[in-house]
Amino acid sequence: MIHRLNQPDYDRWASQIKRTGGCRQPIHLRGKVEHYDQATGHLLHRYSTTQEPNGVLRVPCKTRRATRCPACAEVYRADTYQLVRAGLVGGKGVPDTVNSHPCLFVTLTAPSFGAVHVRREKNGKVLPCHARRDAQTCPHGQIMSCTERHSPDDPRLGEPLCPDCYDYDGSVLFNAISPELWRRFTLALRRRFARLNGLTVKALREHASIAFAKVAEYQRRGVVHFHAVIRLDGPDGPNSPPPAWATADTLEQAVQHAATVVTAEIKPLIRTLRWGTQLDIRPITMAGELTEQAVAAYIAKYATKAAECVGTLDRRIQPLDNLDALPIRDHARRLIAACMRLGNQPALTDLRLTHWAHMLGFRGHFSTKSRHYSTTLGELRAAREEHMRAQEITTGRLPLFDEDTVLVIAHWQYAGQGHSAGDSLLAAAITGTASGGHL
Ligand SMILES: [Zn+2]
Ligand SMILES: [Zn+2]
Ligand SMILES: [Zn+2]
Repeated sequence: MIHRLNQPDYDRWASQIKRTGGCRQPIHLRGKVEHYDQATGHLLHRYSTTQEPNGVLRVPCKTRRATRCPACAEVYRADTYQLVRAGLVGGKGVPDTVNSHPCLFVTLTAPSFGAVHVRREKNGKVLPCHARRDAQTCPHGQIMSCTERHSPDDPRLGEPLCPDCYDYDGSVLFNAISPELWRRFTLALRRRFARLNGLTVKALREHASIAFAKVAEYQRRGVVHFHAVIRLDGPDGPNSPPPAWATADTLEQAVQHAATVVTAEIKPLIRTLRWGTQLDIRPITMAGELTEQAVAAYIAKYATKAAECVGTLDRRIQPLDNLDALPIRDHARRLIAACMRLGNQPALTDLRLTHWAHMLGFRGHFSTKSRHYSTTLGELRAAREEHMRAQEITTGRLPLFDEDTVLVIAHWQYAGQGHSAGDSLLAAAITGTASGGHL
């Protein structure tokens, strides 16, 4: 810290850090940007990181995972919120008439892979976990009953009553196949919705379209489920109203049907996977029980959560990792072991289970949306970068050129990531992101 504070370029370092917005693990870039006059070929301006502290420019890591970098994850969460909200009430280029389009909030769950410890409440009272008077004893000698009333932070929640009976293979295979199951669900939904209205899919496209935004959430047992906003539009997406006959009721029927019928097959194992029977469909309204504000906040919250809450690792499993020695609970260890074992089967290489073992087999995107849902994360980022650039021009760092007459040539090289212990404390103090315990 003292070394950094005594550097002659400390102020420049501090301003770099401020612009990373408190990123805990900024990426270091080495390189230069040159601006040339396109007509004459003259060099107009050159920016090089050789003038910067330690010869590098520090830029935010942009992770979405709060355990890795709270500051960047917060930016991601806020952007996701804006994106989902724009698709519900308008803004960011989406007309506000979109709020009159029929819209549902749907939760698609995973099936059961064996009985797990759960916390259930009824009228504010915690119920016993799995109280069975005539409980069976499993082949491993475990009585399939649990009369405990678990506390919300009980680490056993989501863990099987008998780990040896639990279908670990099914659990990780479901995670691996869930993006495909979702894709098939959207296709089946369009087909069913068209049919309920007496149309073919192709004919439906001339009158109406269906837009999606979804996030994946890990349940405590280690399988993902999906929360989705499903909206009816006219043929041109959010800019056009859906026809009067395209109702939320029919959409709900189509969702119900699609969620029940779609399957995905793991051919080499002759195994078919489908959604769980728990399906939650609720209309999103401006003032009702489920407002668009609540939905946007809910979806954004899950966008920055990963599998860590299940107690797995926050990083890729390496071939030399000793699974038995990893500091994780046995349930996560068995899920990871299932990924490693199945991932080594040549017929299953497409699922890339070894690579995604730390995610318990799930390799999909956490938040996705269909093309017409609303704006994109990229556009939100570009708008923010444009704003930063405007600031740099007014503070004299970048010369103001006409974009069309200037040729910009940039060379960038990755030069490392993160802070030294002293820098990390200083950065937290500068950006007000001191989280404690991160040395
Ligand atoms: Zn970051
Ligand atoms: Zn229990
Ligand atoms: Zn058993």
